[in-house]
Amino acid sequence: MPVDRHSPAPERVSPVLSKLRKAYPEATIALEYASPLECVVATILSAQSTDATVNTVTPALFAKYRKPEDYLAVPEEELQQDIHATGFFRQKTKSLRGMARVLIDEFDGEVPRKVEQLVKLPGVARKTANVVQSACFPEMVSKDPSAGIAVDTHVGRISVRLGFSKRDSKDAVKIEQDLLELVPKRHWGKVSYLFIDHGRAICTAKKPLCGDCPIERLCPSSQEAGLPDLFRTTAKPRPPRKPPRQG
Ligand code: SF4
Repeated sequence: MPVDRHSPAPERVSPVLSKLRKAYPEATIALEYASPLECVVATILSAQSTDATVNTVTPALFAKYRKPEDYLAVPEEELQQDIHATGFFRQKTKSLRGMARVLIDEFDGEVPRKVEQLVKLPGVARKTANVVQSACFPEMVSKDPSAGIAVDTHVGRISVRLGFSKRDSKDAVKIEQDLLELVPKRHWGKVSYLFIDHGRAICTAKKPLCGDCPIERLCPSSQEAGLPDLFRTTAKPRPPRKPPRQG
């Protein structure tokens, strides 16, 4: 029987990834960096910001701050000013300086390679750690028992639409657990970028372009086929509005 949208999720994963690889052959991290330290810094700065904005700030930043010690050598206000355009600059400055301090004290100034070590760095949650590992140390993804898949808003939404997870699309931890069971390990480093590119180009949150979608035949949420959008139907219902106060 040919695999189609009615096939169980484990049977659809490989054809979905294969079609997405063909559709987005360049899918990769959009942040620009030239070393693991720069990658960690850029991913910390990308929280609540866009990759494009971060990429406008980092060339000057990386020319000035070349090693972890450099982030501790300037007054806090100076670093805040240097990253100001990425937003939340006070918190991000704290994270960058804390990250630099832990790198120096615990890792001889080198960015560690395991996810369980990366998450010890201030400002580096599991998603960031997965991004840094797959971007800078791809050979570690298959060896590191703590390795995983970076789940952002696009990855969450598309996983749910494809029926790869039945969780709330915002529950990144549980979506990641579901994907880790379903996606072959050799794809862990790439799957996030494929879903991100697809989420930006075709499978947008508000109006997915199902008629133009390369995996439409494999998708149980296809609007083209008149199906309910699983991303909408699994979203948590909003709490009822409080009645207006009387008098
Ligand atoms: S068919 Fe529609 S909902 Fe399904 S992956 Fe494609 S664009 Fe998204």
